[in-house]
Amino acid sequence: MSISSREVHLVKRPTGLPDPGDFEVVTRPVPDPEEGEVLVRNTYMSVDPYMRARMNAGNTNEPSWELDEPMLARAVGEVVASRVDGVKPGSLVFHGLGWREYSIVPGGELTVLPVYEDLSPSLYLGALGMPGLTAYMGLEEAPLRPGDTVFVSSAAGAVGSLVGQIARLRGAARVVGSAGSPEKVRYLLDELGFDAAFDYHDGPATKLLAQAAPGGIDVYYDNVGSEQLDAAFENFNHHGRVVMVGFMSSYNGEAVPGPRSISWVVGKRLTVRGFMVVDHDASLDRMRTDMIGWIRSGKLKVAETVVDGIDRAVEAFRGVMTGANTGKMIVRL
Ligand code: NAP
Repeated sequence: MSISSREVHLVKRPTGLPDPGDFEVVTRPVPDPEEGEVLVRNTYMSVDPYMRARMNAGNTNEPSWELDEPMLARAVGEVVASRVDGVKPGSLVFHGLGWREYSIVPGGELTVLPVYEDLSPSLYLGALGMPGLTAYMGLEEAPLRPGDTVFVSSAAGAVGSLVGQIARLRGAARVVGSAGSPEKVRYLLDELGFDAAFDYHDGPATKLLAQAAPGGIDVYYDNVGSEQLDAAFENFNHHGRVVMVGFMSSYNGEAVPGPRSISWVVGKRLTVRGFMVVDHDASLDRMRTDMIGWIRSGKLKVAETVVDGIDRAVEAFRGVMTGANTGKMIVRL
C-alpha cells in the first residue's frame, strides 16, 4: 500500500499567541502497519487549549512537544488496515495520534467506538469525549447542588456550553454565563437557555456578574481565571464552591493578576477545588450514557465549529485561543 500523509510539525516554540510560522505541514510516506499496529485514516481531529502549554519548553503537566516532529491530538478515524486481533478494517476508532491525516496506532493506544447513525463521530472529541467528561465531572466535583446559582466562564465554548446545560439538568436554579462577544451572549440566552449572560469585555466583571446574579452565586465553574475569578469571589454566597478547570486568560503567557479578592475564601467559607479530567476515566461510560440520552431527547444542544483540512488545523487552533469557536472546535480531515 503506498499512501502519503500530511502532518503538522511544531518548528519553533511560540511566544504569545502561536504564529502560523511556528508550524509546518509536512508530507510523509505512511508505512504499512506492523504486527500489533493499525493504520487509521483520521476523519476528525481535536484542537484544544491545553496544546498551547505543550508547545513551550519545560511544560510541567505533560512533556513538551519536540520540534520538527508531528504534534499530538485526539482524533477519530476509520481503520484502513489492521494487524491487531479483533480490530477490523472499516471500524471507527479513537486515538491520540492526530495532527496528521493517517496514523499508525499501536493496538494498546486505540479504542474501537460504537457507531450511531444519528450522532456524528466528531462528538467523541467533544460532548462524548474529553470536554464532555470535563463538564460532567467538574460539576460533580464542585459539587453542584439543586437550587444553586451557577456561573460559568467561556460559556459558549466546548466545555462551558455543556456545563451550563448540565447544571440546569441537575437542578441549578439559575445559570449565568460569560463569553467574548454579543453573538455568543445571544447564543447562550436564546439557544442554550441561560438565565443571564454577559460579554466580559463590557466592563468590570464583578459588576457584570452582580447584575447577572443579583442573589449571588453558589458555584463558579472557572475556565479562564484572572478577572472573572476575582468577580466570582466578590459575588459568592457563603459556602460557595469554585471548581478551577483552566486559565484561558493566561495560556499565551499573559500576566495573571490576583486573585485580589481571595480573602473572601475565608470570610465566606468557600471551597476551591482544582480539576483534571485525566482523573475521571472511570466515569466515561456513565457520562456518555447520560449525554447520549440528553442529546436524543433534545435536552442538551451541542454546537461545533468545523474547519476543513489539515492545512487549516493551525488556524483552527489559533481560533480556539482567540474565541473563533462556538462549541467544540473540530478539524475535519
Ligand atoms: P473553549 O472554551 O471551546 O475555547 C476557548 C475559549 O476561551 C475561546 O473560544 C474564547 O471564547 C475563550 N477565551 C480566549 N481568551 C480568553 C480570555 N483572555 N479571557 C476569557 N476567555 C478567553 O475551550 P475548551 O476546550 O472548552 O476549554 C475550556 C477551558 O477548560 C480551558 O481553560 C481548558 O484548558 C480547560 N480544560 C481543562 C481540563 C482539565 O482537565 N482541567 C480539560 C478540558 C479543558 P470567548 O469568545 O468567550 O472569549
